[in-house]
Amino acid sequence: RSRYNLSDGRSSGIEEVLLGRVQVVESLALSVAEFPDRTALATHEGEFSYSELYSVVGGIQGGLKSLEGSSKPLIGVMTGDDHRTYASILAILASGAGYVPISRTYPASRVQQILDQAEIRCVLTSGSVSSLEQAAQSSSSQVEVLDVQALRGGRAEAEFEARSKDDIAYVFFTSGSTGKPKGVPITFRNLDAFFRVLLEGEEYRFSPDDRFLQMFSLTFDLSVMSLFTPLAIGGCCCVVPDSGIAWLQIVETLRAQNVTVSLMVPSVLGYLERYFDEIRLPDIRHSMFCGEALAQSMVAGWSKCVPNASIRNVYGPTEATIFCSSYDWSEEDSAQQAYQGVVPIGSMYPGMEARLLGPDGAEVPAGEQGELVISGEQVMTGYFQDEERTAEAFIELAEGDSARSFYRTGDLCFHNERGDLVYCGRLDSQVKVQGHRVELGEIEHFARQHVGHSFVAAVLPKAGAAAESIALFVQGEAKDLEGLETLLAERLPSYMVPREIRAIEEMPLNLNGKIDRLALRQRLE
Ligand code: AMP
Repeated sequence: RSRYNLSDGRSSGIEEVLLGRVQVVESLALSVAEFPDRTALATHEGEFSYSELYSVVGGIQGGLKSLEGSSKPLIGVMTGDDHRTYASILAILASGAGYVPISRTYPASRVQQILDQAEIRCVLTSGSVSSLEQAAQSSSSQVEVLDVQALRGGRAEAEFEARSKDDIAYVFFTSGSTGKPKGVPITFRNLDAFFRVLLEGEEYRFSPDDRFLQMFSLTFDLSVMSLFTPLAIGGCCCVVPDSGIAWLQIVETLRAQNVTVSLMVPSVLGYLERYFDEIRLPDIRHSMFCGEALAQSMVAGWSKCVPNASIRNVYGPTEATIFCSSYDWSEEDSAQQAYQGVVPIGSMYPGMEARLLGPDGAEVPAGEQGELVISGEQVMTGYFQDEERTAEAFIELAEGDSARSFYRTGDLCFHNERGDLVYCGRLDSQVKVQGHRVELGEIEHFARQHVGHSFVAAVLPKAGAAAESIALFVQGEAKDLEGLETLLAERLPSYMVPREIRAIEEMPLNLNGKIDRLALRQRLE
């Protein structure tokens, strides 16, 4: 029986830990009782055992109690790569709230937007962050900031409050094309459904000896998998340091920490490719990729670096809790199954259903491309206090005599002959930059505000594959661009600020009268 499956009898015999049957929280609470001396977290500061980490959690909980805003359902946490930041997330969940990660690289206006939108009244931070201080002051309501580095006092036991399945575990904000980020609330019901597949299924059979790579910003929901999976089973979460060159730090963490489970965005392979001959990681048992199209050629090369690993391409939007489909890569037949050089995304997780719709909203015939719409326990019920965008994102489809609500992913897919889903691209202008989800429309929204007309276009320099930066074209003269970059840097996360901004005399249009993005891209070559 899996360590995680606690529903019949307690594997640890700790009868008093009955937390409203939210399995993930129960498991977090049980890990410290069961494995106090095992390593829970490895950061650039060193290793922290479960009892060490959870006593920091207990201390933060004590600090939280003194804040008025901590009674609100959501608490903010500034991102960081130190144990106190990770303990802060655990403290928020243990104290009965949900967490909202806010990147310390965001400009103050973005931080403020999130604080206001999620009605956050208190934020935990490990060390002072000027954008947070500015935002907290100018926010429409009072926001308390607790610097967890400044907490004094002895050790305290973490106390996990009972949670209900419908409580929000976290809200992640993603780019929205109207300039307002979208809040994705994920409940413990959603999260439990995800972890049930991951931890109770036969695919992975994780054990307390597993050491997980954590390479993601805490504002990216793949971090939820990399953090909570090990902590739910008594394993170790190995955090990649934020400083230095990201991909070098990733390789170094994989090697030095003897990582056994790695979840990465495919763009990492773009950096590592040159060194495939030198990389040997025999400890890795599971190597997973998610977040963007996975190129067959790259993964074939990578497979030699991880000779003992099973490799999987997993897929899913934040709205459907981390990931919800999976494809087992194999050296023998994945090359034939790749479509336009991209590895399939496989089949949906148990409890999830996928359909493919044509432009008329009807299901497409077998084998044809259509928009992937998904339904099931992992899918959120709607964007945070945003009925309009929720209505746009969901579609009711008939199921027998009744109807069922499906989330529209905006991803174009088809089913191949083996029944696997194959990813073909996006229907809209959502792109991935360094693994981050970006609506090009959001950049254009702010650019339009600055130049006062709508002939602006944000494009990726390269089609399809993972991109590192964005370029922005504006119809007009060089003088029209003055101040534009500063404005964008003040409004947007740094990965969304175009690396190149060009003025052009006349915006090229295609036959449909739309901005000809292909022609713009060619100008960059
Ligand atoms: P996010 O909400 O940031 O996780 O982004 C979700 C989007 O990333 C999806 O709708 C897809 O467009 C893309 N995506 C995620 N995983 C994959 C994958 N394995 N292959 C191709 N695209 C993916």
